[in-house]
Amino acid sequence: MTIKLNAHLTDHFRITPIQKIALHKLQIQTVYDLLRYFPVRYGDTAETRSIDSLRHGDTAVIYGKITGLKTSKGFRTHIAMADGYVEDETGRIHCVWFNQPYVAKMYTDQMLVRIEGKISERRKKQLKTSGELYFSNPKIETVDRLPTGVGDSLFGDDSEKHTLYPVYSESRGISTLWLYHAIQKIFKSSALDELEEPIPNDILKKYNLPSLKTALIWIHTPLKKDDALSARKRFAFEEIFLIQLGKQQARRAYRSEPAWDIETDEKNVGEFVRRFPFKATEAQNKAITMILKDMNRGFPMSRLLEGDVGSGKTAVAAATAYAVMVCKHLQVAYMCPTEILATQHFESFIRYFSYMPIQIALITGSGCKKFPSKVNPKGWTDISRAQLLRWVADGSISVVIGTHALIQKSVIFKNLAYVIIDEQHRFGTSQRARLIKKNDHPHDSHRPTPHLLSMTATPIPRTLALTMYGDLDLTVLDQSPEGRKQILTELVLPDDRNSTYEKIRLELQAGRQAYVICPRIDEPDPDKEAAIIARSVKEEARRLKERVFPEFEVGILHGKMTPKEKDLTMARFNDGTIKILCATSVVEVGVNVTNATIIIIEGAERFGLAQLHQLRGRVMRSTHQSYCYVFTETKSARSIERLKALRSAKNGFELAELDLSQRGAGRLSGAKQWGVSDLAMEALQNLKMVEAARTEAINMIATDANLDEFPILKQVVLARTRDSHFE
Ligand code: ADP
Ligand code: MG
Repeated sequence: MTIKLNAHLTDHFRITPIQKIALHKLQIQTVYDLLRYFPVRYGDTAETRSIDSLRHGDTAVIYGKITGLKTSKGFRTHIAMADGYVEDETGRIHCVWFNQPYVAKMYTDQMLVRIEGKISERRKKQLKTSGELYFSNPKIETVDRLPTGVGDSLFGDDSEKHTLYPVYSESRGISTLWLYHAIQKIFKSSALDELEEPIPNDILKKYNLPSLKTALIWIHTPLKKDDALSARKRFAFEEIFLIQLGKQQARRAYRSEPAWDIETDEKNVGEFVRRFPFKATEAQNKAITMILKDMNRGFPMSRLLEGDVGSGKTAVAAATAYAVMVCKHLQVAYMCPTEILATQHFESFIRYFSYMPIQIALITGSGCKKFPSKVNPKGWTDISRAQLLRWVADGSISVVIGTHALIQKSVIFKNLAYVIIDEQHRFGTSQRARLIKKNDHPHDSHRPTPHLLSMTATPIPRTLALTMYGDLDLTVLDQSPEGRKQILTELVLPDDRNSTYEKIRLELQAGRQAYVICPRIDEPDPDKEAAIIARSVKEEARRLKERVFPEFEVGILHGKMTPKEKDLTMARFNDGTIKILCATSVVEVGVNVTNATIIIIEGAERFGLAQLHQLRGRVMRSTHQSYCYVFTETKSARSIERLKALRSAKNGFELAELDLSQRGAGRLSGAKQWGVSDLAMEALQNLKMVEAARTEAINMIATDANLDEFPILKQVVLARTRDSHFE
C-alpha cells in the first residue's frame, strides 16, 4: 500500500468526527504530522506486577480487565469520584479516582487496561486487621492485549523482544492505542522511503545521531531504552539546529547591512557616566564598553542586555545613547511596552541630559511631550503630534521615547542611529523589525541600519538564551547596585500564617501597602479535573477584608477586568486609597508604587522560582525595607526545599537555571511563548548539545549562508522561520 507523507490522514484512515476534533487539537493533519507526534514516555511490561503481590505503599504497574466502573460521591466529603475494579488471574483490586468522575465515562467494563500508581490501604478501625488495598488516583490507559507474563510483548507476535511500548498524550477519541496502530500502518507502507534527511551526514556521524528514518522507528517502537533516547536526542538536536540556522542567517543578514559609525570617545562617555548620582557597577561599565565597541565595527550592533529588575539597565541605555547623540544629527528611539514605563524613562532621560543642549520627546497613545520647554525652562511641555512628527523628521529632536506609538507609519526619523527596546519580550518580532526599519527612505536604499539594543529582565537559562537569541550578542548585567536593600524573603507554612499577618498589620499601620498574588481569579470550579484548591483573587480579597484586615481597604486586579477598571484600581492603589491589592500573577502591575513594600505570594509551590523572583521584584524600588512572604501549603519536602532557594540564590538567572534542572523546561515560566517543542525544551538541560548545534549552525552559515549546498535543509529552515514570524 502506498501512503504519501504529505497525504491527509483522512485519505488513509477512517476518522470519526470526534477524532477529527481531537486530531485538530493535537495539530495532526498529515501522515508526516502523525509521525512527528512523539510518545511522551514509554511503558515497560518487564516492570509488571501481579495483583496478589501488591503491598500497601508500593508504586506499581498492573495489567488487567476493568469491571464495575461507576461514578459516586465521597461519603462525608461529597467529592465526585469514579471507582471500579481491575482483575488479573491472581486477583482483583479496587481503583479510586477522586475528583475525576469522568474516568468512569472514558472507559467501559471489560476493557483491558494498564494501571499505574500508588497502593493505599483502607483501615477497618474496629477490627484492627489490615484493610482493603486500593489504587488511589492511578494512571489508566487502555492496552491491546494483556501481557501473558513478565516481559511479554505488547507489540504482537512478530516482535517478541519488545517489552517497551509508547505512551502518547491522548485526546478524547485519539488514544495511545489508536496512535500506535495508525503509526504501525504507516511504517508498514512504503511511506518512510520517501523521507529526506535534512541533517548532513557528517554531522549525524560526528554526534552519533540516528538517521531520520531510524529515529522515527526508534522513537515510536524502541527495542531498548537507549534507542528511544538516541531518537529523542536526534530530534532535539534537529530542532535546536534548525532554530540556530535561522537565527544565524538573521544575524548574518543584519551584519551585512551598512551601519552608522559612531565616534565613541570613551573618555567623554566616562565623564557622562561619572555625572550619574551613583557609582556605576562594574557590570554596567563593562556593558557600556561592549556596546560602544559594537557601534564602531562597520556593521550594525544587535545586542541583548539581560539584567534583573533593578540592575540598572536604563543607565546603560542612557550612557550609550549619549555616545550617539553627541554625534551631530544622529537620533535615538527608545521603545517601552507601557505608557507608565515610557513616562518614567522620559523623566530619567531629562535628569541625565538636562545639562546638554538636546531635545528629548515622549510619544504615547495619550499625547506627546518635549523637553526642554521655552515656557518652563526646567521641565517639559505638551506638544502636538504634528509638531513632534515634524521635529523628529527634521532631526531636531535627538531622543524619542515612546510606546507602540513610536512604530506608527507617520513617525519618520531623519537619522535614526540607535534603537533601544525595553522589556523586549513584550514585543513581537515584527514590531521590533518595524522600529529598525524606521530609517529606510523610499528613495535611498543604502541608508545605514540602526544599532539595536534589546533589554529584558526575564531571567532565562543560558541554553535557552543561546538558542532563542542566537541572532543577538548577549550581555548579562549580573550584579546589583551596591547598598541596595535586599528584599527580606520568608517562607511561610500554614502554622505561621496568623503571626505573619500580624507582622504585616504593623507595616500597614505604619502606612505601607501590600500586594497579594493569588494563582486564580475565581472560586475553584468543582467540576474541573483534580479541583486544585488554589486561592482565588476574589475569594482571597473577600476573606482578607472580612477576617484578617477589616480595617484596611482591599482591592482586586486581574486580567479579566477592562483596561478602565484596571487603571482605576491602579490609581487608587497608587494614591494609597487601596492598602492591599489582590492580583493574579499574569497582571503586570506596570507601575512602581514605592510605598508598596510587602508582597504575599499564595500557593507559591505552583510558580517557577524565576517567576517568583520576578513577582518579588515589584517591591524592590522602595527606600523602605521590603518584604516578600512566600505562602505555601504544600506538604512536599522537596517543594519546600526548592522554595528555599529564593533566599539563597544570588540572582534571577541562578533561579532560572534551578527551575530548568529541577522542574524541567516544560515548567519554565512562559515556556509556551518560545514556540519550541517539549522535546527541545528537555534538551535545553544539556548545554553541550545546545552548544554543538550552535557551533555547527555557525560554521555552516559562515561558509554557505543561503544553504545552497543543502537544499532539503534550506527548505526546512525556511518553513520554520516563516512559521515563527506569524506571532
Ligand atoms: P532596570 O534594570 O530594572 O531597568 P533601572 O535602570 O530602572 O533598573 O534602575 C533601577 C534604579 O537603580 C534606578 O532608580 C536607578 O537610578 C538606580 N541605579 C542604577 N544603577 C545604579 C548604580 N550603579 N548604583 C545605584 N543605583 C543605581
Ligand atoms: Mg527597566
